[in-house]
Amino acid sequence: MKKKIIIANWKMNYNFYDTTHFLRHLLKFFNHEKEIEKNHQKIIIAPSYPFLHISNQIVQGTNIHIAAQNIHDMEKGSYTGEVSAIMLKSIGINNVILGHSERRTYFNETNKILLEKIYIALKNRLKIIFCIGETLNERNNNKQFISIQKQLEQTIFICSVKEIENFIIAYEPIWAIGTGEVPYYHEVQKMHNHIRLLFKNKYGKFVSDKIHIVYGGSITELNCKEFFKQKDVDGGLVGNSSLNINKFLSIIKAS
Ligand code: PEP
Repeated sequence: MKKKIIIANWKMNYNFYDTTHFLRHLLKFFNHEKEIEKNHQKIIIAPSYPFLHISNQIVQGTNIHIAAQNIHDMEKGSYTGEVSAIMLKSIGINNVILGHSERRTYFNETNKILLEKIYIALKNRLKIIFCIGETLNERNNNKQFISIQKQLEQTIFICSVKEIENFIIAYEPIWAIGTGEVPYYHEVQKMHNHIRLLFKNKYGKFVSDKIHIVYGGSITELNCKEFFKQKDVDGGLVGNSSLNINKFLSIIKAS
């Protein structure tokens, strides 16, 4: 059975103290629950840039991995305030979230820009958690499947079969992020199955069986079990509920 992947996206929350305190608490839990750590899931935490280095040091040698929330689409240069893939690699970061709807909406990240970011990330051997999702308008007009297909065709599907190994897909209906609204569980399963089928048509069964497709959008300690029960849901990307240690631990346990 595939290991479930639980990803915490802390966004622009948590200062130095909150970050280090949370991670130490998480490690303490894992020290008590060795079985969970060894056998069941992979945990990825995405703190803010200033705390990536210390976070990586804290989780060194454990089953917890650290991800950046973004990279610039160039490797270096006169881009004041930006952070590059090369910089992240130099402090031992191996994962990055790309395509989050907040980046697409507030920072105008188009599929074209995201493709550039994908190239830079792959060139620097970063694993990519790639977010895709439909708007409420698309969902209301039954355009969610075509929207997702388009997002994949303009980004990831330009990659080679070898490069696909470096991706985790996060299906996040935009209208469900941070709103407390969630799709029906069977609808999530249907979309995940659709995404897997698109991968199968493009790259073959081996790749489509292997790729992790996680769900994101208002996951809580109360609804997570139902999401994780769905056949094609390989884990979760958690925003708000990952900021509360008890809720986040419940979500990990449920997976
Ligand atoms: C997210 O930001 O990716 C997310 C899923 O947030 P939330 O869990 O708060 O909806």
